[in-house]
Amino acid sequence: MYEKIALKRDVYDSEEHRMVAQATKDFIEQEVMPFHDQWEEDQMVDRNIWTKAGELGLLCVDMPTEYGGGGMDVSFSFLIDEIISECGASGVGFSLHSNIMAPYIEKYGTHEQKQRVLGNMCSGKWIGALGMTEPGTGSDLQNIKTTAVDKGDHWLVNGSKTFITNGYLSDVVLTAVKTRPGTEEEGVSMLIIESDSPGFTKGKPLKKLGLKAQDTCELFFEDVKVSKENLLGEERKGFIYMMTELARERLDVAVQSIAGSRKAINDTIKYVSERKAFRTPIAGFQNTQFKLAEMATELQVAEAFVDKCIALQINHELTAEQASMAKLYTSEMHGRIADQCLQLFGGYGFIWEYDICKNYADARVSRIYAGTNEIMKIVISRGLLPDYFAELKKKRKAAMKSDTGLPKPSAS
Ligand SMILES: Cc1cc2nc3c(=O)[nH]c(=O)nc-3n(C[C@H](O)[C@H](O)[C@H](O)COP(=O)(O)OP(=O)(O)OC[C@H]3O[C@@H](n4cnc5c(N)ncnc54)[C@H](O)[C@@H]3O)c2cc1C
Repeated sequence: MYEKIALKRDVYDSEEHRMVAQATKDFIEQEVMPFHDQWEEDQMVDRNIWTKAGELGLLCVDMPTEYGGGGMDVSFSFLIDEIISECGASGVGFSLHSNIMAPYIEKYGTHEQKQRVLGNMCSGKWIGALGMTEPGTGSDLQNIKTTAVDKGDHWLVNGSKTFITNGYLSDVVLTAVKTRPGTEEEGVSMLIIESDSPGFTKGKPLKKLGLKAQDTCELFFEDVKVSKENLLGEERKGFIYMMTELARERLDVAVQSIAGSRKAINDTIKYVSERKAFRTPIAGFQNTQFKLAEMATELQVAEAFVDKCIALQINHELTAEQASMAKLYTSEMHGRIADQCLQLFGGYGFIWEYDICKNYADARVSRIYAGTNEIMKIVISRGLLPDYFAELKKKRKAAMKSDTGLPKPSAS
């Protein structure tokens, strides 16, 4: 198996990590995998697993204990997501809930928001979702169209979101909106919207290439009244919040890509050791051995970089560029590894009941969500060419001012 030759992973090397890993594995093997095929048909998991996971303390493990979280460091949250991916439980949307949505509330929320939202999310009573993407825009988040108009004592929300993970089962959606649409001051704000709000409706779960048991859906807001207290942080700071928090989300995708790659390699080692052709195990062909050697090497190098990124994230030192590199490299790698492993399964690799087939399908989205890999390259290149992009920004600002008839900046 791959682990036999891999480096020891210092980032998860404690008794506590081993206990959390085992508890997660047991939970997934007993409460999730026996039902996963049925949930793929249903396009969603049974919501009881959320409360069961909450009771076991597997949700929001790095949120403060004051709000019902585990009070652990962020590596535990990544570890849980790794184990879930390594078990092939791709329908379980805990990562979006615990590792992506909850940190926004923890970082930017008021004490009351944390008590209500985190309190319910840590126990699994509420399922969390994050609504940024819209039918008309995903990569260009500054161009969202969902509005929240200030009506004095509440916001009036209109618009829609799409591809929302946990969307169908969600109880609370952190939603990106524009509070001053069409004005010079229009910027993105984040609103906490509860799913039972009148005017808030959900589409049916979308039929997808992979992650079939995960409820991904459209959300619609039609004159939804949202309390003023539900604004997260400051008005029009949402874009900055998203750009800050996306680093953790991207690292989480990298962690899952690493785990998915490891599973693909280990499943393949097992298969090629048993399956024979020309009276020889498939493992006996040099082509198989070389492919496995190449894939394990690539995985080991990537794993070392991702572990370094986790260590940086624990100390709040991970940069946007590093997170983007981790996501870009590992998601592309997972695609390559899943494809090559599937080839070694022959026809069985194309059959859905084989994990490698699901692995191949599930891997594809990692290059798309949490920002596409093209957007990752933009983030990384901006870090490499800061002067060029600063100059470009200045020129664009000046051009916009001249377009709107406002005075041009003076030459001095
Ligand atoms: C299964 C799944 C789950 C998801 N979960 C969530 C969720 O929970 N919450 C949420 O808000 N969103 C979610 N998303 C949405 C996801 O983040 C977006 O699909 C993604 O950001 C891309 O946006 P888009 O689909 O609008 O593609 P577009 O932005 O339309 O991009 C289309 C293509 O153009 C390329 N492109 C765009 N801009 C540039 C550029 N400047 N330079 C070069 N190429 C460019 C892109 O890379 C891509 O290849 C999910 C998506 C999927 C498929």
